[in-house]
Amino acid sequence: MDFHDPGSINALHATSRKHGQEYVAPISLVGNENEQQPQIPPPAIFQTPETAQAAEDEHNKMLPSIAHCAIHLELLEYFQLLREAVIKSNQLDVLFDTLPRKKTTVSYISHSSGRRVLSRTLLRPIKAHDSTFRERRKEKWTRFVDCAYSRFSTWVVSIDDDRKISGKDEVELDPKLVPPIDVLLVWHAFLMKPRLCLEWCRDKKILWVSQVDFPWEHIHSMVNQSNRSFQTPVKNAETFKKITHLEPDLLQCLIQGPKDGCTNSDQALSMQFLSPEKTRIANAMLDMIWKNHDEWVDLMCHFLWIRSPAVEFTLQGARDGYRQFFDLFASNPTVGLTPTPDIELVWLTHQLSPSSFSMFSKTSVGRLVEHNVVPHDPDHIQALVSTERAFRARYGAAYRRCLCWDCQNLQRIARRTLSDNRDIHHFVQESMREVAQHRAVERTRRSHRNLPISYQ
Ligand SMILES: [Zn+2]
Repeated sequence: MDFHDPGSINALHATSRKHGQEYVAPISLVGNENEQQPQIPPPAIFQTPETAQAAEDEHNKMLPSIAHCAIHLELLEYFQLLREAVIKSNQLDVLFDTLPRKKTTVSYISHSSGRRVLSRTLLRPIKAHDSTFRERRKEKWTRFVDCAYSRFSTWVVSIDDDRKISGKDEVELDPKLVPPIDVLLVWHAFLMKPRLCLEWCRDKKILWVSQVDFPWEHIHSMVNQSNRSFQTPVKNAETFKKITHLEPDLLQCLIQGPKDGCTNSDQALSMQFLSPEKTRIANAMLDMIWKNHDEWVDLMCHFLWIRSPAVEFTLQGARDGYRQFFDLFASNPTVGLTPTPDIELVWLTHQLSPSSFSMFSKTSVGRLVEHNVVPHDPDHIQALVSTERAFRARYGAAYRRCLCWDCQNLQRIARRTLSDNRDIHHFVQESMREVAQHRAVERTRRSHRNLPISYQ
């Protein structure tokens, strides 16, 4: 079976679930505490073995590691959860005045003769459903991001002062200075737009934020592995408060108000930041977060690669594809090339390490090639077709891969075991069983049920 042929890839995707039903035994969700439970995602995916790093050529060493891509996916899930928490918060509906609008309608029964209404009988008043509520409460996220942007700006300036005082100029941020998640979100969005970020930095005469690498390892350490929550360490929270005079947890501060935790001045300060500066660059950045950034976060979370049984295989393929894509870019400077979603993940992970990305881009293509996250409109589809054509001409292989769990895991196991001369049914069965197991764990996680689960 040629897994690189687009015909066989489409056929594989179309039939993989059908065959999966035939091969996989039913999965029981009855707990069995003695059974070894799978760790999803596997902890090893977040670390880069030194041997693997040493074996890479100089060009590949500049690429983002699989671990950084995995932590990136992990962080995107928390960005999405933060947005959901803000949008669904009833307390913030009160604060931002997005409560349902109460409206009462009165209905009648009309008694008529022909076209003439003779009398009306009044029925009881009905509380009308506010059909605008669901959309209006999304405005809270816009306001929250406004606030986060101002906090980011304050944080950048306060660190710049600190760096000037201590004379630091490393590309790594001091671990205790890693900020809370709302500030991380704005910083993340900033680094996804290197030119806009540089313009903002020059405008503020603060360059460090366009030079420092995103602190992936420290971000991963902020994830509580037992309950999978994202927590700002106490030391970081204290440092953030000390240098910015702002509350570390913006969401909690806004929800609880001055009585339950925040001091009056802290609350007043937070509220004051609800109206950020409205410069052209600030507006462009906020606009980018509300539209393209959120959409991209949702797209990446939708794929759920981080909980796939083939996560390492998928990210390795993405990393290889990214390098091939840049080589293609160098030899086809006039063709409008566009990345697949997995290559896009690696590209944007790379942009979050500005100095490494700049060096790689200039070495590969001779200039800084910034990726812009754009909606998948007809122009995007056309660019994808052009890229596919150029890719096949250069590498003799299909550009697009099906990135679903079934196809990725089947290809992973097939590549590993094809040389064993085993019957094809063996590796199909092994793959489908793993996928079913991971799906069962994911269903359990989403329904807030407790592991363990057992497999028959
Ligand atoms: Zn598929």
